Amino acid sequence: MGTTTQRVSSTRGFALLAVLGGLLVGAAPASAAASAPVLAGLSGLAGGTAVALTVIGAPSGTAPPDVVAAASGDPSTTARSTADVTAAALPAVDMEATVLAAQIDPRRADDTLTPGAKASVLLVEQALRDRNLLDARWVDGYFGTQTISAYAAYQRSLGYSGIAASGLPGTTSLTRLGQDRFAVTRAIGPGSRVQRDGHVVDARTQAMLTEAERLLGFRLVLEQGSYNPGGDSTSAGTHDGGGVVDIDIAGMSATTRTAAARALRRVGFAAWVRDPSQGDWRWHIHAAAINDTDLSSPAQHQTGDYYLGRNGLANHAPDDGPRIPIQTWEEYQRTR
Ligand SMILES: [Zn+2]
Repeated sequence: MGTTTQRVSSTRGFALLAVLGGLLVGAAPASAAASAPVLAGLSGLAGGTAVALTVIGAPSGTAPPDVVAAASGDPSTTARSTADVTAAALPAVDMEATVLAAQIDPRRADDTLTPGAKASVLLVEQALRDRNLLDARWVDGYFGTQTISAYAAYQRSLGYSGIAASGLPGTTSLTRLGQDRFAVTRAIGPGSRVQRDGHVVDARTQAMLTEAERLLGFRLVLEQGSYNPGGDSTSAGTHDGGGVVDIDIAGMSATTRTAAARALRRVGFAAWVRDPSQGDWRWHIHAAAINDTDLSSPAQHQTGDYYLGRNGLANHAPDDGPRIPIQTWEEYQRTR
């Protein structure tokens, strides 16, 4: 419904021009008695652009979801004006918080909510419910396995498959789900795919690795990248999506290995030193970028487990790495 957005924008633009015009007209007679002409200009505006003022002044979020849903599928003038009023002040869905909840909540043993995510997750769940993809009893602000399944079904309904239909919200699907219902704020995404050490990673992961190297003062060499076509049986699919890398730490001292894991954690990876006793592999650091919207489902589980203090392996053992305050790449960038 791009036309609706454009209509709202142009209506707003006209109102803004009208206000500016009124102020300019009011300001024109110089400083003496300036307030009266300004008021006159504004009252003239109120008469001339009643529709625009109605849109701007409309109360937010008061239209019941079923009315909005009807409006979005109905091209009649009445329906469009309903959509316009709603679009004037849509509630916000914080995408960072929503994606974080979608990684952590399915891994929780209880029904604790992810801090800061409840209002956003509720809006997403209400939209899924109104599309008959989520039972009303799961509309609770908790992005658990039921909500993941519903979101994946929604992504499939848009024609997505594979990691694009993993149930982890991406910018495009979330924005479409929010059409006439909510505005997506703090949008995040993996960026384009780039080469690093002969492996494929996404641009967000590349930037995170570069910053970790800057903190460490030495290069981090990959031995496995992202977007694998499901070929590596030792990785259980964690490298099939974006945001996941293995770093070669052969020859590093225990101190240096730990320092590398700490730097990777600081910039927003769930990162663990893996040793040969844990699996059929050499010494390496396995790192999964928290809030990378291209994470495969197994990698989502690992970032969620990291938040919950586990090691990201099938045995769900306690985290054996350096514990520091957990933050995403975006949070790191805002606080540094
Ligand atoms: Zn790995």
